Amino acid sequence: MERLRQALQLAKRHSDYLFAVLFIDLDRFKVINDSLGHMIGDQLLIAISHRISNCLRPTDTIARLGGDEFVILLADVKDRDSATRVADRLQEELLLPFTLEGHEIFSAASVGIAFSSVGYDRPDDLLRDADIAMYRAKAHGRARYAIFQPGMHSKAVALLQIETDLRRAIERHELRLHYQPIVSLRTRQVTGFEALIRWAHPQRGMISPGEFVPVAEETGLITPMGWWVLQESCRQMQRWQKQFVSAQSLIVNVNLSSKQFSPHLVEQISQILKETQLPPQSLKLEITESILMENAESAVTTLSQLKNLGTLLAIDDFGTGYSSLNYLHRFPIDTLKVDRSFISKVDVDGEQLAIARTIITLAWNLGMEVVAEGVETMKQLAQLRSLQCDYAQGFLFSLPLEVASVEHLMASHPHQPIILNPTTSHPQTSLIKNSQFINFFTSMHRPSAITSTISR
Ligand code: C2E
Ligand code: MG
Ligand code: MG
Repeated sequence: MERLRQALQLAKRHSDYLFAVLFIDLDRFKVINDSLGHMIGDQLLIAISHRISNCLRPTDTIARLGGDEFVILLADVKDRDSATRVADRLQEELLLPFTLEGHEIFSAASVGIAFSSVGYDRPDDLLRDADIAMYRAKAHGRARYAIFQPGMHSKAVALLQIETDLRRAIERHELRLHYQPIVSLRTRQVTGFEALIRWAHPQRGMISPGEFVPVAEETGLITPMGWWVLQESCRQMQRWQKQFVSAQSLIVNVNLSSKQFSPHLVEQISQILKETQLPPQSLKLEITESILMENAESAVTTLSQLKNLGTLLAIDDFGTGYSSLNYLHRFPIDTLKVDRSFISKVDVDGEQLAIARTIITLAWNLGMEVVAEGVETMKQLAQLRSLQCDYAQGFLFSLPLEVASVEHLMASHPHQPIILNPTTSHPQTSLIKNSQFINFFTSMHRPSAITSTISR
């Protein structure tokens, strides 16, 4: 810190004096520590510090901040390129294997770089920004470097703000569920609704899940949030079934995140069904392909247990991940939801149409029904009809609706099933614009680590 302070003073006095701070974090050091033991972990850190020193000039400073974090002060660099060349060299050096007590160990590092030219007053701020850049490098796929840019800081702060606000959102009842109808293409009847979470933020208005679900997942807030979604959607559907004849055979679809998909889930869901008195066959759990495939063997068990409870199961966003056909047929899945990316071009692109047809046939052969997601146009609908796709969900039939609008729909079909006709004239709500925001939050890594960085 002392050297940083001196360098800052030099830079203040001499406008052409440029220096750089490199924040180095080893990738997967914990794995090495956990698998080979702390003794070897320590030796590796020492060996790494030697390699780093070998890349530097005598006038540079290297420090270990703790754990697997190192910081380098490159004093008096000619230009930005000379600093990034050091980062490149460092990374090449660290990629070469280490031999420690007979083990060949591979290591790699992510590097964040901050330049004095940003105009800092405090050493802390420099370290913070180099750290933020390092997280950006990690988020882009490890063993890379990233240079700090002022925008990154506001993003990290915005992320921290979202995290803080989100903690309160649950207590303050700012979370809402909207419900989007799922329509049978054969009968045009609504067979169920997908519950989609929204956050009524006191300052920012309605926020779409794309913006905060990833933050909730990274911070663990998804656990209470997911619990709330399940409870609220089951309670809501049970109420509707009691209140409206047209709702009696409706199903509510609920999205599960990877963190929720644990051994506790079965017990949780069974408890919620008991509490809310919703018949289990009125609940369909949506799980993405990637969650299932990540841990396919245990997923087979969990899914069978859920099936034994009597709930229905759907694979969400099918086609975007990598499915093993070997597993697909072992999962007791009722419904396959074809991702919007395949549906959006079925009307213009013959290849996409062929893919959609293939997915539908695959699903049928595995005994599943098919929902086309994100149906927006009459042409898409016509193509899906020609493929005899079972169900559709999308703006063409309805936007996700607030509770009051769903009730209006149910009340307007008092004694018969709800029929929905395609219409292209849905009002564009502010949330739709919202959900099309480019979501910079998801590209950040480990918000909790950024939290500690900012408060440091
Ligand atoms: P998803 O489960 O695939 O949900 C469908 C998404 O597509 C919804 O976005 C819906 O509004 C949007 N959509 C429906 N029809 C159309 C259409 O015709 N065109 C276009 N462009 N979009 C359409 P939303 O509500 O923003 O949700 C995004 C994702 O967030 C969901 O994708 C789901 O993965 C996640 N999510 C939503 N609610 C929850 C929740 O309660 N828990 C968890 N874990 N994730 C949720
Ligand atoms: Mg879904
Ligand atoms: Mg989906």
